[in-house]
Amino acid sequence: MIHTEKQHPKFERTLIIIKPDGIQRGLIGEITKRYERTGLKLIAMKMMLPTSDLVEKHYTIDPEWKRLVGEKTIKSAQAKGHAPIHEDPAIAGDMILDILKKYLTSGPVVAMVWQGMHAVEIVRKITGSTEPLSSGVGTIRGDFVIDSYKTSNDDGRAVRNLVHASSSVKDAEDEINHWFKQEEVFKYALVQEKILYDVNLDGIME
Ligand code: GDP
Ligand code: MG
Repeated sequence: MIHTEKQHPKFERTLIIIKPDGIQRGLIGEITKRYERTGLKLIAMKMMLPTSDLVEKHYTIDPEWKRLVGEKTIKSAQAKGHAPIHEDPAIAGDMILDILKKYLTSGPVVAMVWQGMHAVEIVRKITGSTEPLSSGVGTIRGDFVIDSYKTSNDDGRAVRNLVHASSSVKDAEDEINHWFKQEEVFKYALVQEKILYDVNLDGIME
């Protein structure tokens, strides 16, 4: 299928939030570099102190998120043979949302929008899975954090994992509109897009 210019996959976008621990650990540059060097294009970026309301709305954009995160934490606790944060997925989801509000409002964060082919999946792959203890080597969460579900649950706090990354194209669009005004998101060309997306590879040779 030939893509029309407007619907081409190069316009896919995703939201990244460098969480307060990412800022405190001095990892803004390291984290940004890892997304930047893939070829994705940074189209928005700002530092801000999120409000509790902003964080709550962010995590409840997907009405299923609370139940899903509750089910996920119970499953993972069962697999490892320790007690979950709560037996009921809905209550576990509420508890996780509560500790997330504390985590994300504790200090400034850096919010970014990245654009390019497969932006959502590429960014999730580089970011690594939610729990740093089991995130892959080479991912941001695997390389720079030592936290686990068990310890964070026992201590009654959110898993510290440096970044938020959108988990679907639909969530990404909703999240971008939640964190950024339209005029804060830039439409511009990057020179390297020619080699990433051009079909003909003309214009290299002199
Ligand atoms: P993500 O998409 O990989 O960030 O994971 P989720 O959307 O499932 O969860 C959002 C955030 O909540 C995670 O990044 C963690 O900071 C935190 N979190 C998720 N699950 C748990 C959990 O089971 N226990 C604790 N303490 N925190 C959690
Ligand atoms: Mg998520």
